Amino acid sequence: MKAAPFEYYPAHSLEHGLQLLKEYGDDVKLIAGGQSLVPMMAMRLAKPGHLVDIHRLSELQDLQVVDGFLRTGATVKQCTLEFSPKAQHIPLFGIALPWIGHQQTRNRGTVGGSLAHADPSAELPLIATILGANIHFQSIDQGKRHCLANELFLGPMWTNIDPQECLTHIDWPIWSGTNIGFAFEETSIRQGDFAMASAATQLQLDAQQKVIRMTFGLGGMGGTPYSFNDLSQSMIGHLLNNDAIDALAEQAVKGTEPASDLHASAPYRRNLAKTLLKRTMQQAVAMALTSTPPSSS
Ligand SMILES: Cc1cc2nc3c(=O)[nH]c(=O)nc-3n(C[C@H](O)[C@H](O)[C@H](O)COP(=O)(O)OP(=O)(O)OC[C@H]3O[C@@H](n4cnc5c(N)ncnc54)[C@H](O)[C@@H]3O)c2cc1C
Repeated sequence: MKAAPFEYYPAHSLEHGLQLLKEYGDDVKLIAGGQSLVPMMAMRLAKPGHLVDIHRLSELQDLQVVDGFLRTGATVKQCTLEFSPKAQHIPLFGIALPWIGHQQTRNRGTVGGSLAHADPSAELPLIATILGANIHFQSIDQGKRHCLANELFLGPMWTNIDPQECLTHIDWPIWSGTNIGFAFEETSIRQGDFAMASAATQLQLDAQQKVIRMTFGLGGMGGTPYSFNDLSQSMIGHLLNNDAIDALAEQAVKGTEPASDLHASAPYRRNLAKTLLKRTMQQAVAMALTSTPPSSS
């Protein structure tokens, strides 16, 4: 199929893009990398009468460390996060980004587009959720606002972004210190497909190998990514040994609502998620026990 007819507007500035969003109301969409929107338009699952292209706006291409956060503009490309030395401040990017589609899609797809699209199996929404990334927006009528990633995602392809708003940038908390470990695991039918289930863990241990801080989560296991803050908090001051890991993984998947579909039943997904989660925790602990502090460049 081909997309329904639409008018195309390259935004000259953020202000210009926001004015166009206001002017065309419910019949307009932003386009960034086009890697999700264009297929949806081609299948006529989306039929915006007006497309506002933001991918060239320099205002949305920040990539810098600000007050303990890595700030990424909305239109920073996924491939940039994969390879930029600055992106190493969020080490999960380096191991999770290669799972997003293919090199060709990551060359065009943007960070903000992935969050705004809100696929529950997508990698960046999971990382944003477990790290507690702060998401910033702007519109003509409401000005600027921000929210945490776990408040952004409301359901599959459903966010709290107002149609008049543009996601402008994301602040990703940087963990500093020693004995930090992190891991990401995913299973998909074929290389480049969306995850059947995915898991991520980041933690920091003290000199006695006890947990100082910890975060972990699951993707593809319900309408939004999951993070398990209460379970993580319960581990602070404790050893994360194999028994503790088994118990955490068991508890975590109990709270998820995976779908049964052509590829896997819900019980299969739960088992898979449990295995992936345990692996990430084991790897993160092993890494934390041998890690050196990240470079501050
Ligand atoms: C073959 C293929 C495989 C893929 N596999 C994966 C995968 O495994 N994992 C994965 O996560 N993704 C995958 N994707 C999707 C890819 O990551 C997209 O890049 C991403 O989902 C959307 O980013 P984009 O910049 O292309 O956004 P677009 O397609 O341009 O936009 C997507 C949506 O977000 C909105 N939007 C975009 N930017 C903003 C903004 N700044 N503010 C407000 N709204 C905005 C648009 O209006 C649209 O509704 C795949 C895509 C393809 C084609």
